[in-house]
Amino acid sequence: MECSKAKKIVIAIDGFSSCGKSTFAKAIAARLGYIFIDTGAMYRAVTLYALEHGAIEAGTVDEERVAALLDEISIAFRFNPERGASDIYVNGTCVEGRIRSIEVSSCVSRVSSIRPVREKLVAMQQAMGRDRGVVMDGRDIGTVVFPDAELKIFMTADPAVRARRRYDELHAKGEEVSLAQIEENVRSRDRADMTRAISPLRQADDAIVLDNSRMSVEEQMEWFRERFDRIAGTC
Ligand code: C5P
Repeated sequence: MECSKAKKIVIAIDGFSSCGKSTFAKAIAARLGYIFIDTGAMYRAVTLYALEHGAIEAGTVDEERVAALLDEISIAFRFNPERGASDIYVNGTCVEGRIRSIEVSSCVSRVSSIRPVREKLVAMQQAMGRDRGVVMDGRDIGTVVFPDAELKIFMTADPAVRARRRYDELHAKGEEVSLAQIEENVRSRDRADMTRAISPLRQADDAIVLDNSRMSVEEQMEWFRERFDRIAGTC
């Protein structure tokens, strides 16, 4: 892959839950020497904080309390050489190991539909990508955060394949959840993300679709290389 293109661009990767967006985005960023930003981790970090500070009780999200907590939440990413990726921190504490639990996953779509939450996180994301040279993954990157991104990819995969991937990931971490529970979570998050009033998940008009249901990471990288070389050659 030709990685020495002088002009750095923004690569926006949006798509459904558990499509492997982060794995793909991380691999691209490593190959290009770009910064990788997992925006889902930011919504998850706010959700975890809300859970731990009484703004979500028995699965009910108190939108006003979540919004009131925002001023006391400071989010940062720090590179972890052991993982070869950045860990997410809230108020100086690493929460990377706690944000992907089923408890957080089942509340995050409701938290991410709260307007002040989106306003705060979108502004942070835009600041992080101001100097370009970023690969950002999420739901609204190509439509709202960086509508001017030079390369927009919309990822999708069969829901059963996605649930199985998430199941394997959680089981490897020792979390006790059933495949059916995960499949239901993946489907309900997709529904909530696509139908929310603010910044719903949708494919940007100028995005290219990548369905990776039956593709290895290497095949996805080959797919990317062809698109990147075409785009980078024109900007
Ligand atoms: O990417 P991930 O599945 O970790 O994202 C968790 C949740 O965060 C999504 O289901 C969605 O509700 C929310 N999200 C969002 N906008 C983004 C990224 C994630 O609303 N840009």
